[in-house]
Order: sequence, then C-alpha cells, then structure tokens
Amino acid sequence: MGFIWRKIKPNSWFDAVSVIYAQIMIHAGLLYGEFIVLPWLIETYNVGLVKICMYHIYAIFIYFNVIGRMWKICSTNTSTVGKILPTLLKPGWFYCTICEANSPPRAFHCKTCNKCILKRDHHCMFTGKCIGYYTYGQYLLLVFYVWLGTMFAVIMGFEFTWSYVLGGFSFWSVIYFIFPLICFVTGQLSFYTTAASFLCLLASVFFVLLTFLMIYHAKHVYYGQVTYERTHNVYAYDLGWKINFLSVFGSKWHLSWIFPMIESPLPGDGIEFVKKENYENPKNV
Ligand SMILES: [Zn+2]
Ligand SMILES: [Zn+2]
Repeated sequence: MGFIWRKIKPNSWFDAVSVIYAQIMIHAGLLYGEFIVLPWLIETYNVGLVKICMYHIYAIFIYFNVIGRMWKICSTNTSTVGKILPTLLKPGWFYCTICEANSPPRAFHCKTCNKCILKRDHHCMFTGKCIGYYTYGQYLLLVFYVWLGTMFAVIMGFEFTWSYVLGGFSFWSVIYFIFPLICFVTGQLSFYTTAASFLCLLASVFFVLLTFLMIYHAKHVYYGQVTYERTHNVYAYDLGWKINFLSVFGSKWHLSWIFPMIESPLPGDGIEFVKKENYENPKNV
C-alpha cells in the first residue's frame, strides 16, 4: 500500500487538489450517468437490453483506459533518477545544480517533481506528475480517452439536462445552463438541477478544451517536438512523421492504444537523441 502511495503521491498542494478534483469528476460523472441519466433514458425511450449493454461496454472501456493511463503516468519513471549519467559534460548536456548531476539534451528540471525529466513536455496537475519521454504517449492517449468520455457525457446528458432537468429550451434555461452556480446561490435553482446543469456544462467545456488540446499536441507529434521546442521553434529532432510517431507511441502502438497495460517499447532511451541533420546524412551519425 505504501508502495502505491509513494507512486501516486502529489508533490504540491495545488497538484493534490487538482488530482482529487479530477478523480471526483471522473467518478461523479460515471455514477451520475449510471444511476440518474441511464435510468431516465431507459424509461423515456424504452431502451432495449442491447443498447444498455453497449452503454456499459463503452463506459467501462473509457473508464478502464482513463484510470489505466493515469496509473501508468504515475508509476512510470521518466526522470533522470536511476539512469547512468556521465560525469563529464558532453555537448548538448547541461549541469543541473539542484540534481547535482549532468542532464541530457531535451531534459529539463521540474521544480514540482524536483527532478530532471527526460524529454520533458510539461507538468500535468491532474496526475501530479511530469510528462516526459516515457509518459508522453500515455498522456496523449489519456487526453484522447477523457475527450471520448466527455463527448459521451455530452451526448448522453444533453437531452436529459435540457428536456428533463431544465424543462426545455428557453431564455431562462440557457441562463441556468451557463450560470448554474450563480442561479443556485440566488435561490433560482435547486441543488439537483444545479448539479445536473453543472456536470453537463463542465462536460461541454472540457470537450471543447480537450479538442483544442489534442490539435495542439498533434503538431508536437508530427514535428517531433516538446512544448519548449515548439515555443522556441526548434525542429532539430524532426525525423519525419512516421519515426516521430513511433518515438511517442512505441512499436506496439496498434495494441497499446486500446489496452493501457500493454507496454509499447520506445525506440530510444530518452537520453541520446538522433538529430535531423545526422539522420538525413547517415555518414555523420
Ligand atoms: Zn534537475
Ligand atoms: Zn513535474
């Protein structure tokens, strides 16, 4: 138990609040769909057994992937800790005064994790961990599955919220939908109506935000970049979209994108990277 706690323990209060918030929203959404929205859909539309089974298979599949990938991100070491690092500073490397060790190219020190992270992209507050060389693929798939989950929640919850909870489309129902918390505080909405509207609004907002986030990261994958390199116009590691894709999702991507427990080996070690100039001129490698 202590072993699991050490892996998932957030390193700051901000991360702890974000991780708890994410877990509450995932499980609240799941329970809300199962015990409130689905029974209403079954009763209103006389939904058959096959569709009910499909609902559960889809919901379990999404849930399994979201939680599985969160666990993978938390349990995978993507830092320089445990790696054999040279004592002499090689070209492209830097000395991290906090880790008191040499760090490889594309690694950056994360103040929250207090480690140098291999091919660091960013620190993810919803998992409380850094996204680096060994976790970037899992992170992108996590975003993808949360996006699928929010899309499912919006499709399933939209009519329930608008037709049943808010009583149909009108000026005031739009106001209630956009500002549920304000309407609750001013006494215009009951707790139940507020909670239902808030969940549907959150799912809609997250669906839109995650759509943009996926488009944003698709460019990273395509050009073989991390966020820092993109903001600084670095294309030094762009080896063509196919190799860039494999260096993120690994050689077993066709299986691991469906099953989070299947390991998909990455082509490198996160320490040495082939540069575009060397790749295009094999004599120089
Ligand atoms: Zn460091
Ligand atoms: Zn970090």
